Amino acid sequence: MTAVELPSTTTLLSIRDAELEFPNGTRALESVDLDVSRGEFVSIVGPSGCGKSTLLRVVSGLTDCTAGDVAVNTETIGYVFQEATLLPWRSVRDNVALLAELDGLSKTERYGRADIALDLVGLREFGKHLPHQLSGGMRMRASVARSLTLAPELFLFDEPFGALDEITRQRLNEELAGLFHSQGFGAVLVTHSVTEAVFLSTRVIVMSGRPGTIVEEIEIPFAYPREPSIQFDPEFIAIAERVSTALREAHS
Ligand code: ADP
Repeated sequence: MTAVELPSTTTLLSIRDAELEFPNGTRALESVDLDVSRGEFVSIVGPSGCGKSTLLRVVSGLTDCTAGDVAVNTETIGYVFQEATLLPWRSVRDNVALLAELDGLSKTERYGRADIALDLVGLREFGKHLPHQLSGGMRMRASVARSLTLAPELFLFDEPFGALDEITRQRLNEELAGLFHSQGFGAVLVTHSVTEAVFLSTRVIVMSGRPGTIVEEIEIPFAYPREPSIQFDPEFIAIAERVSTALREAHS
C-alpha cells in the first residue's frame, strides 16, 4: 500500500473555537483550536475526564460540538481504540479485511489490501489464527492493520496501547512511528503516557481539566525513524519534563 501523495502542507483537520456541552450540562470542551496536517503526529495528554476522547469523537463525526467549527478535509479516517474489537469468530485475515468488505471492495481487492496491511504490522503468518490465539499486542496490531486497509489519511488513536505491558507498548510505539514514517498519514493520539507522546509525535498538546482546552503545545524536533534509545537523549528527557510539568499544572 502506498501513501496518497498530497502536498505536505495539506491540512487534514481544522478545529476553531470548539465547545461541547452534553445535554446533561457537562461541559467537556471549551475554546479548542487545533490544526493537523498530513505528516503531523499530534498527541493529546491531559487529566482524566478533561475531554480528550470527546475531542476524538468530534473529529470522527460521532459527536457534534455545540459551538465552533470542525473541518475534516478527508474521507478516510482510521480509528483505533484501546480495545482491539476484533470479531472472535473471524480469522485475523478476515477481521483485517472487514472494513474493506463493509466499504464494498471486491474480494480480491480487500484480501489484497488485508495481506499488505498484515505485512506492514508483521502479522502475515497469523492470518489464519483466531483473535483469542493472539497476544494483546498482536490483537492491537490486527486492529491497526484493519484500519490500514482503507489507507487513512487521518488516523485517530484513543489510548491504543494503554492495556499493554511496558515492553510490548514500547515495541508497538516503535512500529507505529515506523508506519507513520512510511505511510505519511496525519495522526491524533490520546495517551496517558508522556514518554509515548513525545516518542511518537511531531507535536504534543496538553489539555486543561474539564472543560478541556489546550493549555500548551510542544513541538518535538526529532527526525523519523525514531529509535527507542532516543528516550535517553538529554533533549528528549528535557522535552518530556516540559510536558510533565504542563500536565501537573493542568491537574492542579
Ligand atoms: P477523557 O477522554 O479526557 O478522559 P472524556 O472525553 O471521555 O474524557 O469525557 C469528558 C467528560 O465528559 C467526562 O467528565 C465525561 O464523564 C463526560 N462525558 C463523556 N460523554 C458524555 C455523555 N455522553 N454525556 C454526558 N457526559 C459525558
